[in-house]
Amino acid sequence: MSAVKTEAILLRTHPYSESSRILRFFTLELGLVSVIAKGGQRGASRGYGGAGAFSEGMAVFVFRETRDLQTLREFAPVNSRFGLARDVSRLAGASAAAELVLRHTWQEPNAGLYRAISSGLDRLEAAPPEEVLAQVLALAWTIVHTLGFGPELAACLCCGRPLDSEEMGWFEMQAGGVGGSCCPSWGGSRRIGPHAREQLKRLLAGDAPSELRGRRAHISLLRDFTSYHMLGGDRLSSLRFLEPDLASRGDGPRH
Ligand SMILES: [Zn+2]
Repeated sequence: MSAVKTEAILLRTHPYSESSRILRFFTLELGLVSVIAKGGQRGASRGYGGAGAFSEGMAVFVFRETRDLQTLREFAPVNSRFGLARDVSRLAGASAAAELVLRHTWQEPNAGLYRAISSGLDRLEAAPPEEVLAQVLALAWTIVHTLGFGPELAACLCCGRPLDSEEMGWFEMQAGGVGGSCCPSWGGSRRIGPHAREQLKRLLAGDAPSELRGRRAHISLLRDFTSYHMLGGDRLSSLRFLEPDLASRGDGPRH
């Protein structure tokens, strides 16, 4: 058993009993760490102080590898990210990111993922209202990519031919990539044009396009892709809290 001091992001807290809560952290040095904190509903526990979800700072855990629940000695948030909780859509996006991370990480460090979550949450908090959806998508797709589930976009996944920059393709959901006009589409595939493919490529790299087009299609692609490839048929439940006007805003001229 040893005390480990590490940067940590509190991803979720939920009640465990009348007098305690489970806190789930993603940490730089230890990966996912779950602890029981005394303090119950009021959250005013020793060392944890009722910090809110998505806050980040240094934490000290008494850590034993063979244990599922570790002991938290101290958590001192320096970035509370209160701005996320003031806005339903930002909170929905942050919660969707937490869902993906909690389903696919364990007590194993992943520095790239830690940095992606930390910077993605900062950008989501700071984004102007018209960029919130693009930041939600960028955060989620970066996590998908960093965890190794990113779809193949550069070449036809049936025959391997590189796709032309102007080519209309098919997003093959089950195969997890794009098929070109060279090959027949499979059942359940959806059309994806060059512009959407380019935007998806940017989102996977954590870059939120300021001119996001086809917003509904982007949300549905993320929801269906993660359901099929990462959540065993479950859906990212937080996405349903995205405000409806986010999905319709900026979808081209209306006549
Ligand atoms: Zn092909």
